[in-house]
Amino acid sequence: MIRTENIVKKFGKLQVLKGVNTLFQSGEVISVIGPNGSGKTTLIKCILGMVVPDSGKIFFDGKDISNDFSYRKDIGFMPQIGHYPENMKIGQLFAMMKDLRRISSELDEELLEEYDLNNMYQKAMRTLSGGTTQKVSAALAFMFNPKVLILDEPTAGLDPLAAEILKEKILKAKKQGKLVIITSHIMSEVDELADSIMYLFEGKILFNKTIMNIKTETGEDKLGKAIAKIMKQNNHV
Ligand code: ADP
Ligand code: MG
Repeated sequence: MIRTENIVKKFGKLQVLKGVNTLFQSGEVISVIGPNGSGKTTLIKCILGMVVPDSGKIFFDGKDISNDFSYRKDIGFMPQIGHYPENMKIGQLFAMMKDLRRISSELDEELLEEYDLNNMYQKAMRTLSGGTTQKVSAALAFMFNPKVLILDEPTAGLDPLAAEILKEKILKAKKQGKLVIITSHIMSEVDELADSIMYLFEGKILFNKTIMNIKTETGEDKLGKAIAKIMKQNNHV
């Protein structure tokens, strides 16, 4: 469904992605993890077409994305930090997005209701707490029923109940056969949600394995411990 071939990206002298090859398939939840600065967000932005790689190719449903941006309608993206027009009200933002997308099929407004955002339509974006802004981002990511969800540290700013609601939503999306790519530093959460883990380290994939394999290979039942063990074996600690 999404394939990257040897993606290289530099920012000035800093080489952030050093040849990343991946394959993401429908019906999977894949967690991209790795230390801060390892290139997770940059990889996601390459897939979204927000960052253009220096070399390498990305295919969406077999089509090279550099020729045609229409694939982006099939992706719901929740950014690590959402930036919105400050004076726009929540209600206006949703109205504008619906207008831009012009989707005739049914909208998914479940998160809007569960997060009670439909009772905050008059609030301006600049007055929202970080957590509420994240809720808006989450509601927008799911709203147009995309085939693919890309969520960049989605629960980082959310309160525990809001995080739980989002996790339920992610599992539901997986059951519907969607592809979910999620970055997170919270191992218990990754364990609950993901089928497999792609570990990025200094711009390279250190490993790409199912959680089941990670646990059996290391003999550890706790995912955090299992990953620490793999890192130790590879002399990366
Ligand atoms: P992660 O999401 O894994 O924490 P990022 O992909 O955000 O990592 O960043 C990887 C590295 O690239 C960091 O050192 C970051 O400072 C740098 N970087 C990211 N975006 C830019 C940019 N637009 N300009 C310059 N450097 C950037
Ligand atoms: Mg990041």
